[in-house]
Amino acid sequence: VSTGCSGNGAKGTNGGIVVPEIKFTKLFINGEFVDSVSGSTFETRDPRNGDVIANIAEGDKEDVDLAVKAAREAFDHGKWPRMSGYERGRIMMKFADLIEAFIEELAALDTLDAGKLLSMGKAVDIPAAVHIIRYYAGAADKIHGYTLKLSSELQGYTLKEPIGVVGVIIPWNFPTTMFFLKVSPALAAGCTMVVKPAEQTPLSALYYAHLAKLAGVPDGVINVVPGFGPTAGAALSSHMDVDSVAFTGSAEIGRAIMESAAKSNLKNVSPELGGKSPMIVFDDADVDMAVSLNSLAVFFNKGEVCVAGSRVYVQEGIYDEFVKRAVEAARSWKVGDPFDQSRNMGPQVDKDQFESVLKYIEHGKSEGATLLTGGKPAADKGYYIEPTIFVDVTEDMKIAQEEIFGPVMSLMKFKTVEEGIDCANNTKYGLAAGILSQDLDLINTVSRSIKAGIIWVNCYFGFDLDCPYGGYKMSGNCRESGMDALDNYLQTKSVVMPLHNSPWL
Ligand code: NAD
Repeated sequence: VSTGCSGNGAKGTNGGIVVPEIKFTKLFINGEFVDSVSGSTFETRDPRNGDVIANIAEGDKEDVDLAVKAAREAFDHGKWPRMSGYERGRIMMKFADLIEAFIEELAALDTLDAGKLLSMGKAVDIPAAVHIIRYYAGAADKIHGYTLKLSSELQGYTLKEPIGVVGVIIPWNFPTTMFFLKVSPALAAGCTMVVKPAEQTPLSALYYAHLAKLAGVPDGVINVVPGFGPTAGAALSSHMDVDSVAFTGSAEIGRAIMESAAKSNLKNVSPELGGKSPMIVFDDADVDMAVSLNSLAVFFNKGEVCVAGSRVYVQEGIYDEFVKRAVEAARSWKVGDPFDQSRNMGPQVDKDQFESVLKYIEHGKSEGATLLTGGKPAADKGYYIEPTIFVDVTEDMKIAQEEIFGPVMSLMKFKTVEEGIDCANNTKYGLAAGILSQDLDLINTVSRSIKAGIIWVNCYFGFDLDCPYGGYKMSGNCRESGMDALDNYLQTKSVVMPLHNSPWL
């Protein structure tokens, strides 16, 4: 398949580092790249140095209107919802193949835009996206209702119908994975959509729109409108012709989106929100394993992970040993250019996020926690922060309660199992939790007592992409991944009819 693009995607080298060429900077509406109605653009910046990467067409209300109109037309009169699930799946498989073919370039785009490790993009993010599309491509022809014998006179059956036009609003921490966790089940269900990527990371979403078209996804099915939250995002969540919003982001914005959905057309919202996930390390845990899992749980992707295990509760018997080893592990992370394969932690996504994390570190110090390592920028330019560990953290401190979304660990000591469970649950969030122990009875008790959507036992980030996950409490109320995610994009219709002649005549 021709991509319609020239070159191998390499823009230039800088000390052996190859940065990608930026090919797509306009809105993607009804199968075409177009300027915004206002002609406005916004800058997307490189977190390695703050330099402008590209000027991106800035979507606003008028652009969202046009994109929703295209998605509405494609849903109400187009082929996508009407073709067989098998045929949709076949096109989705092609889409996945194209992404696989451009893995180097796509991974590099997210590295440039979000500061994510290139090595991780190639090994994790893009392969996960391909897996997700193929998973839902396979599911597309297995969506079905059921039959009911209602009485001696009536029978019924249910239809699983696509929910309609979906507004997809996503964050910047996993620009590719977040895109496909929503777009893939929506495509499989037969929905059409308008995607608003995060303003920090619009580049890969525009590329995916282009590849979707090449794969044969009809015009109007996937529209991408980059822009800001209060303008483009709000226009989407309040739009009267949008049937559902699939949102991942902070709890605060999730609330705003649910309010705006309620105030407009009562559209469905599936929110995947923030977290402040605990890891509970019991005395009998394998300390080597616990230390390295814990370091990964907090510092992976520079802490910009919704399920980061940033509250670490260690039982008193191994606490001192654990603290010593955790500090050594934190110091072993190699912070630096995410294009450089010898680094394993890149910069925070942008200046705001960089400053916000440093502010939390200052709060930790001023509230009386003890800073054991890190706590400052890791370079003179760019948004790099040292892996940071606090001890003497109390439950009421900001760093113990609020989502920092950066490489900052709060280490706390507990005595009894009950205390460990109470501390772990002492949060408004409930996204994930980690348990480290070798005692099966203890593991069973604790995993059933923690209020979180996913529990990892002696592992962390053990995502099987077939496994549903989502939030308890203020971390959301839907499930993403696995077959459960299809429910966000489907609605059930019952059809009732007489068994013989109409009983109503
Ligand atoms: P955010 O809530 O600030 O923004 C998310 C998206 O919402 C962006 O596209 C933004 O432009 C848009 N937005 C902002 N204001 C809006 C408004 N008024 N109306 C409509 N849209 C609006 O979040 P973020 O800073 O981009 O991402 C970090 C957050 O995402 C963290 O809280 C993190 O935990 C969460 N997250 C959750 C999951 C999960 O699966 N639960 C996964 C990744 C990230």
